[in-house]
Amino acid sequence: ETTHDAQSFKFDAIGVIESPYQEKFAIPRQPNLVSAAKGKVVLLGDANNHELVRDIEQFSHLWLLFVFHGTQEQGWKPLVRPPRLGGNVKTGVLATRSTFRPNPIGMSVVKLDKVTTEKKQTILHISGLDLLNGTPIIDIKPYVPYSDAIIDADAGFAQEQPDAALSVVFSEQMQADLIKYQQRDSELGLLIEQVLKQDPRPAYKRGKTDDKVYGMSLYDLNIQWQLITLDTVLVLNITQVT
Ligand code: SAM
Repeated sequence: ETTHDAQSFKFDAIGVIESPYQEKFAIPRQPNLVSAAKGKVVLLGDANNHELVRDIEQFSHLWLLFVFHGTQEQGWKPLVRPPRLGGNVKTGVLATRSTFRPNPIGMSVVKLDKVTTEKKQTILHISGLDLLNGTPIIDIKPYVPYSDAIIDADAGFAQEQPDAALSVVFSEQMQADLIKYQQRDSELGLLIEQVLKQDPRPAYKRGKTDDKVYGMSLYDLNIQWQLITLDTVLVLNITQVT
C-alpha cells in the first residue's frame, strides 16, 4: 500500500533578492524583458557558503525558485484574469503565471553576471529579473537549454512575447535629473526606458489614452511619467525618496 504522508513541507529561504523594484507596479511581467534590471541573490544561513555555488559560473542563466511574498497573504482563487487576455477573461490559475496560486511559488530564468564572496557573504549578481526587492529564494538551479528550452512548444495565449511598443522620451527636466543620477548608476536611463516600454499600466488601459501622471519607484527613486500619445511615454522627472 502506498502512503501519502508527506503532504506538507517547510522550507527555509536560502537567499534573498536585492532588486531595483520596490513595489509591484511597473515590474516586468516576466524575466528578461528588461535586461538593464540588475539585482543580487544574497545567500543566507547555512546556504551562505561559496561551496554551494562552486562551478555555477559556467552557466550563463539560472532558474530562481522563489516565494511571492508580497502577495502571499492575499490568498488565491481557482480562476484568474491574465493581463495577456486584457484582464477581463478568466483562466485556470494553473494555466497562468499569476502570483495568486495555491502555493505562492514563482520561477524565473535570470542571467548570471558573476559570483562574489566578500567578508564571508556570497552573492550571485544577476540581471533581467522580474522580482520584488526582498523576495525570498527557495532554490537555484542552472538553466540547461537542451532540456529546458523547447523551441517548438505551444504557448497557448502566451505564444508571442508581448510587444514592448511604447516609445519613451525624456523631458528637459528629466534629462537634467538623469545626468545627476547616472553618476552613480550609468544604466538608470536605460532601465527606465526598458521598464516603461512595456506599458506598466493595468492591462485594460492598453492601447488607450490616459492623462494620469504615474509614479514608479526604482531603487530609492520615484520616477514620474505620463502617456502623451497612444504610444509615447514622456518621463517627467526623478525625485529621491527619503
Ligand atoms: N517569472 C515568474 C513566474 O513565472 O513564476 C513570475 C511571473 S509573475 C506574472 C511576475 C510579477 O510578479 C511581476 O510583474 C510582479 O508584479 C510580481 N512579483 C514579483 N516578485 C514578487 C513577490 N516577491 N511577491 C509578489 N509579487 C511579486
